[in-house]
Amino acid sequence: TAALFGHDEPHIAAAIREALDAGMSFGAPTAHEARLAGLIRARFPSCELIRFCCSGTEANLMAITAARLVTGKPKILVMEHGYHGGVLYYGLEPAPWAAPYPTVMAPFNDLPAVTAAIERYADELAAAIVEPMMGGAGCIPADPGFLAGVVQAASSNGVLTIFDEVMTSRHGAQGLSVLHGAAPDMKTFGKYIGAGFSFGAFGGRAEVMSRFDPNSPDCISHAGTFNNNVASLSAGVKVLSELYTAEIAVAHTARGEEFRAQVAAVLARHSLPLVVSGYGTMMTIIARAELPRNGVDGADRDAVLQELVYLGLLSRGFYTAPRGMVNLSLPLTDDDLAGFLEALDDVCAELAG
Ligand code: PMP
Repeated sequence: TAALFGHDEPHIAAAIREALDAGMSFGAPTAHEARLAGLIRARFPSCELIRFCCSGTEANLMAITAARLVTGKPKILVMEHGYHGGVLYYGLEPAPWAAPYPTVMAPFNDLPAVTAAIERYADELAAAIVEPMMGGAGCIPADPGFLAGVVQAASSNGVLTIFDEVMTSRHGAQGLSVLHGAAPDMKTFGKYIGAGFSFGAFGGRAEVMSRFDPNSPDCISHAGTFNNNVASLSAGVKVLSELYTAEIAVAHTARGEEFRAQVAAVLARHSLPLVVSGYGTMMTIIARAELPRNGVDGADRDAVLQELVYLGLLSRGFYTAPRGMVNLSLPLTDDDLAGFLEALDDVCAELAG
């Protein structure tokens, strides 16, 4: 999902080279930062103020930190099997290597359960962090109304919401959460905006983000040697201003929707327990009979069939994530997509036999 422009996009390389000519490393804010912040703010609602960092993991860590300090409460609410970074890794519980925040777990797409958890722990909960479509768990989209329902339950209980749009901001003109009509307190970004260079950003309502203002008496310090790194920020400016405008994003999302329908049609031709879940240009072929609705479903797969599909595609020249994730990049041609469908059909025929 970071390689939305492919592995070698000449305009990005040129933009970075030009930026580097004016200096590689600065110990103070640069014009690239201001430009990119303006582009993010104009494009993605709920981001009145924005700060940059070096990864999606860091963006989520800083957003959680802000929520804890602003609310004065310690706990975070996370979806079962959520993934928000290397140290924000969850199954039914936080992974042993997860950052040691006191954590409440709840099932994705189960608004009554999420609401009950928010109400029960309201006095201790700083924030609920939610990905608008669970990516790592199997590209499981939020049900209509789920995201807005979480925001409603959280805000009426003094709990902040953080939408992790590190991957899903590529969908539609303004990111997936906007298509769901949901507006959180904070959003986080990463991946394709840096076009392959290390990138993270977090933004939100001015009331929350202004706590990072160095002039505020109770300022949260957000230090980081490379937070203003020239390559990522100049690439980001090129991405949002030219290479992935709102119009291009809308068209790319539509292309993904059409392609996922074609993948589903191929799978339906064979009597194998395989489904394709996702939205827009992110999808996952999952070895199970029914589409997953939450993280527990997404983990409930036929592991052998899953691996055979991966190997079958790989041996026919198509590299997907071993867990079945398929992401469409912009350079893919119609022939590439047709070739994938043909290879998938062939793999299914072989496995069904
Ligand atoms: N959030 C989500 C939803 C992600 O998919 C990822 C990366 N896979 C991250 C956060 C972490 O981003 P990074 O790898 O840049 O730390």
